[in-house]
Amino acid sequence: MQRVGLLGLGIMGAGMASNWLAKGFELSVWNRTAAKAQPLKAKGAKVAATPREAAAGADFVFAMVADDTASRSVWLGADGALAGAKNGAILVESSTLTPEWVRELGGHAHGQRCGFLDAPVGGSRQAAESGGLRFFVGGEPQTYEAARPALQAVGSRIDLLGPVGAGATWKLINNQLAATQVAALAEAVEVARKAGFRNEQISELILGGAPASPIVKTKLPRMLERDFEPADFAVHLMLKDARYATALAEALGAPADMVLGAVKAFGRAEGKGLGAKDIAAVAG
Ligand code: NAP
Repeated sequence: MQRVGLLGLGIMGAGMASNWLAKGFELSVWNRTAAKAQPLKAKGAKVAATPREAAAGADFVFAMVADDTASRSVWLGADGALAGAKNGAILVESSTLTPEWVRELGGHAHGQRCGFLDAPVGGSRQAAESGGLRFFVGGEPQTYEAARPALQAVGSRIDLLGPVGAGATWKLINNQLAATQVAALAEAVEVARKAGFRNEQISELILGGAPASPIVKTKLPRMLERDFEPADFAVHLMLKDARYATALAEALGAPADMVLGAVKAFGRAEGKGLGAKDIAAVAG
């Protein structure tokens, strides 16, 4: 039986954990807030006291945490997962992070004689719970092939996009577009309301029109109903992604006007105390 160590049991990590258990993987989990591990213990996961303990003996070690700071803290240091990973283990960073940090982390992993992939995901709570995530992967082809069984247990589409850093880079491009679409939707809804359109009209006109992308279809009903809890994807995380995406665009000398607008909109929502609410609350 193959063993997975998982760091991070938030919305996404908890869903992934349940799928590894259901598919017969042996699972060891760690979360900063220990109470979130209890439902998984009841399903058969081993609960570790540190990231190092969760990684010990695992064939694959995954992290699914908030941001670069969280990722550094779970991988590095005396209690970090790198200190516990066995030689030959494959380490997989699935959080949405900067390409600079995942490349640095890949270097640490190789120094420990471990394989490394950056494999952030597309899809939200429902995809994590149903095993339907899409993985954007960066790394060596042989590492990717060796990790496929663990990725396929929680994902329905897995694409190797290039060397380490390619997955993180594409995920930021993906969320550059997602953040701008949701921020623009919030503005359009506000203009429509102020112009006197009713919710039913706004819904029918937007959903029946060309701008109705999948994320617009998902978030419009929540905006109209002001249904911001529980979050499927929190405002503060989309703000982080929009900031990372802006830095990526600027580093590449590409224009970032739209995503900078999204930074402003999600930052305003966070400033109103809506950081933990669903991204639909950018209309709040
Ligand atoms: P979440 O529910 O807020 O969970 C965040 C996780 O990170 C929790 O386990 C949290 O621990 C941990 N964490 C935060 N700061 C930490 C720190 N300093 N040290 C150690 N652990 C820390 O977030 P999520 O929605 O699962 O998202 C996880 C990652 O996936 C993020 O990078 C996000 O951008 C990305 N993502 C999310 C979605 C989505 O729709 N939700 C979709 C694609 C990608 P505690 O429980 O102790 O707070």
